[in-house]
Amino acid sequence: MKNSQRCPKCDCIHIIHYIENDVIPIGFFSKAWVTKYICSECGYIESWIASKEELANLTNYYGVGRPVTRLSELLNDQE
Ligand SMILES: [Zn+2]
Repeated sequence: MKNSQRCPKCDCIHIIHYIENDVIPIGFFSKAWVTKYICSECGYIESWIASKEELANLTNYYGVGRPVTRLSELLNDQE
């Protein structure tokens, strides 16, 4: 939806671009902001990290190929 401006579920072209106070923490001192694209017809939501720098920081911090949650991050910090 971000690139096509069209809902992949119902083909609607009326997309809401919503930037909210939603972040993914990167350690204790950094974060990545989440941008959402919402279909005004069916309600389907896509979420993106808009900043390439924040995306690189996320990748460096969490790595790829394994699931991570805020809880697993907190447990890792205690080791
Ligand atoms: Zn839709």
